[in-house]
Amino acid sequence: MASKHYHLTAQGELEQPDVEGELVLCRYCDLLQHLPELQPGEEAHCSQCGHLLDSRHPQPVIRPVLFASSALFMLVLANLFPFISMHAAGSQQQMSFLDTSSVLFAVHHPALAVLVWLFIQAIPAFCMTAVIYLKLGMIWPLPARMWVARVLFMLKPWSMVDIFLIGLLVSFVKLASHGDLALGLSFWAFCLFCLLHLRTFQVIDRREMWSRISPNPKPMLQAQPGCTGFSQHLKVCACCTALVPFNLSHCSRCGDRVHRRIPASIQKTLALTTTAAILYLPANIYPIMVTVSMGQETQSTILSGIRLLWQDGAYPVAVIIALASVVIPVLKILVLYGLCYLVMQPQSYRQRLSTWVFRWVDWIGRWSMVDVLVVAILAALVRFDLLMSVYPGPAAVTFAAVVIITMLAALSFDPRLLWDSPTGQAPATTEQPNSMTEHTS
Ligand SMILES: [Zn+2]
Ligand SMILES: [Zn+2]
Repeated sequence: MASKHYHLTAQGELEQPDVEGELVLCRYCDLLQHLPELQPGEEAHCSQCGHLLDSRHPQPVIRPVLFASSALFMLVLANLFPFISMHAAGSQQQMSFLDTSSVLFAVHHPALAVLVWLFIQAIPAFCMTAVIYLKLGMIWPLPARMWVARVLFMLKPWSMVDIFLIGLLVSFVKLASHGDLALGLSFWAFCLFCLLHLRTFQVIDRREMWSRISPNPKPMLQAQPGCTGFSQHLKVCACCTALVPFNLSHCSRCGDRVHRRIPASIQKTLALTTTAAILYLPANIYPIMVTVSMGQETQSTILSGIRLLWQDGAYPVAVIIALASVVIPVLKILVLYGLCYLVMQPQSYRQRLSTWVFRWVDWIGRWSMVDVLVVAILAALVRFDLLMSVYPGPAAVTFAAVVIITMLAALSFDPRLLWDSPTGQAPATTEQPNSMTEHTS
């Protein structure tokens, strides 16, 4: 294994190790490519499917640590002060950031309470702490960095602070006609937390981070860029992106189990997608939210909520909820079925387009959670006893399950199957072997 030497400059930043170009295997289309040495501000995309293979950001230690520690500080502030208060008919109700999950506990929705707490507090806080730990680990040899990095990249899609922010905006529109809203200090701290959290993930480079934890293992085999990994008995570690020969079951760098293709990928994807499709029916039939006003109970389903917003003239919000709760989940379920069908066809065609569609639905699927978070916000804020109170309906849990299951279904789907030939042998390709590099704006 090649050793690399790191040393500090006068500015306290680690210099890039002396690496010549490396070989990289695209985890979406299985093409082995030569990855040129990237300069700060550059990105490398797969020459076949366009997937982002690697990127380099300037100041790889200082910037992520500063962003992540500021984000954590803002998260603490977001929990210390009043978040939002609402005045209606002479009475006032105040909500803290933690109320979004604690009130759900109080109204006997423990599963939903735990999910909301994980998505907007625990996972984002862990991710920011992990980034600081891993980046400081580039300077000092801190223990368990391998484990922290594995968990960080596994949890990243489940951090939903950006979706919560959209949920807040939707809630404000829904409540505008019912009373006056006042934004507390914690709300602004949360907005800053959201921006800093987003920025932290933008400035960390997965391959670079892993190469600092442990050098990229060189496969013993003679590998030829421009051909598939499958044809050269090479597979890619989904966790740390290292190349692993077929004869090894585990990655020699991160220790993760590496498969040539995700085992029973199509069966798992179909089973999970079908479960989500079945659950989507009760999620639409049963009420997602129950409003008790002056002793009168009004139940609203996903569709009736959208209709009400439209009738009130809140067109942009109605469109956002319709997209998040109807269009995206339905489209995601249909696309996953379509991709499983394409894989089973004798000759899969338009592979580049289908890979792009898969990446897109995989990315956008988590945004469906917005309606569940809106219910959590309204339940926490609208608690005016007899005057008006909001409770989550049974469909809130069911719909959250639909979103989570479709996310798991997308994770079970192996996009490399789209590029494999029907015999299960990945075809050799004559594509341009060098990956394309471009400057980020
Ligand atoms: Zn690719
Ligand atoms: Zn690995």
